[in-house]
Amino acid sequence: MTASLETNVLPSGEDVSTAIAAGQRAYELDRKHVFHSWSAQAQIDPMPIIAAQGSYVWDGAGRKLLDFSSQLVNTNIGHQHPRVTAAIAAQAQKLATIAPQYANDARSECARLIAERTPGDLNRVFFTNGGADANEHAVRMARLHTGRYKVMTRYRSYHGGTDLAINMTGDPRRWRNDYGNSGMVHFDGPFLYRSVFNSENEQQECERALEHLERRVALEGPSTIAAIVLESVPGTAGIMVPPPGYMAGVREICDRYGIVFIADEVMAGFGRTGKWFAIQNFGTGRHGTGASGATGNDTVTPDLITFAKGVNSGYVPLGGVAINDAIADTFADVAYPGGLTYSGHPLATAAAVATIEAMESEGMIDNAARIGSDILGPGLRDLAARHDSVGEVRGLGVFWAIELVADAATKEPLAPYGGSSPAMNAIIATCKENGMLPFANFNRIHAVPPCNASDDEVREGLAILDRALDVADTFM
Ligand code: PLP
Repeated sequence: MTASLETNVLPSGEDVSTAIAAGQRAYELDRKHVFHSWSAQAQIDPMPIIAAQGSYVWDGAGRKLLDFSSQLVNTNIGHQHPRVTAAIAAQAQKLATIAPQYANDARSECARLIAERTPGDLNRVFFTNGGADANEHAVRMARLHTGRYKVMTRYRSYHGGTDLAINMTGDPRRWRNDYGNSGMVHFDGPFLYRSVFNSENEQQECERALEHLERRVALEGPSTIAAIVLESVPGTAGIMVPPPGYMAGVREICDRYGIVFIADEVMAGFGRTGKWFAIQNFGTGRHGTGASGATGNDTVTPDLITFAKGVNSGYVPLGGVAINDAIADTFADVAYPGGLTYSGHPLATAAAVATIEAMESEGMIDNAARIGSDILGPGLRDLAARHDSVGEVRGLGVFWAIELVADAATKEPLAPYGGSSPAMNAIIATCKENGMLPFANFNRIHAVPPCNASDDEVREGLAILDRALDVADTFM
């Protein structure tokens, strides 16, 4: 099946043939003048997108495609949500920009809504332009608060593409280039499917990963370590939901040695896992609760949470750091040395206020949790049972990864860690031919629809993945 041209008019009201011509011109100008991220410039072929609505986008030929990527796991409330586009337009009419030293209603309201949704006493918010700079500022706050320099992050992580953030990142994008070290120390996190600890079950993996982390802290010297930074659920590196007790154990280690615990929720935050923040899936019990086991206020509480993406569904660039009282107090009488011209930009924060209110009033967080437990999770497990190329599926909410292997027994990945392969290229092409935009990374396809996707849309995505996995199986 090939996605078809269903209409002569796009959701914006624009005539399709006019939009197709504009898309063609966009493509030609792109190839002449746009320098793309993470790409060999001569080898890429960027698909024009001429319209978007809800869970769908329209490509340069006017074909409607299911957006199962949420645009780098970003559009948590789907495309063109009317409440958010209206809020941006209204804010632009009222006050389109103002420097960060002035109070403005959009930023103040946005900070209140975020502070009320974070766990514990993370009562203040520092706004940035995106996720990487949020992580950079969180590290700076932790270093100044503790007077220490080193920062510990896990292999198989992604924290951003700016200089410090890419050093925090533990994936091949860093190793391919020599960006230097910047005081970063990497460690292995829990990942039972490819356990470096030779564990046989989740509990063993949890205990061994925590022992490894504490040994690493001891060897580095606890008094030199400012922060441990963890994605609450690592996203780009493979959606590896930590086992029960792991996050609680990291919290204990941080408390024992006076280390700041930074949770990077740039990708996993704002509803993606079926909670406002992914860390809220993890209870404080060391052996008890894990994903979805946390109840009420019994959640692990980091000292700083970094966020971006889903905070306003990516409609206007925005990120930030939610800060607990102890760290905020460090800067009560001493200036915080850092800032950005667009910190708390009115258009971005007005979009965030409208996004958070829409998520709440339309029940999107509960929808994400229900889809994960009732449709997407069971559907992906069914695909795993029927396709030999699926090594593992894992995730929660609307945040799932399918790990593809060339050999089920050896778990040899269908593309090398850090690279691509003809098999993965064929799978991605099959998804697109059948009407879906996937999020693919190395040997994985991530199934990450918006939090307000309908049951039918998710079933449509599963059916297309089924066809793509038929192709994957031929590469075994
Ligand atoms: N942290 C995490 C967990 C991410 O997934 C990302 C981006 O994907 C970032 C940080 C960087 O965010 P940005 O691209 O907005 O700088």
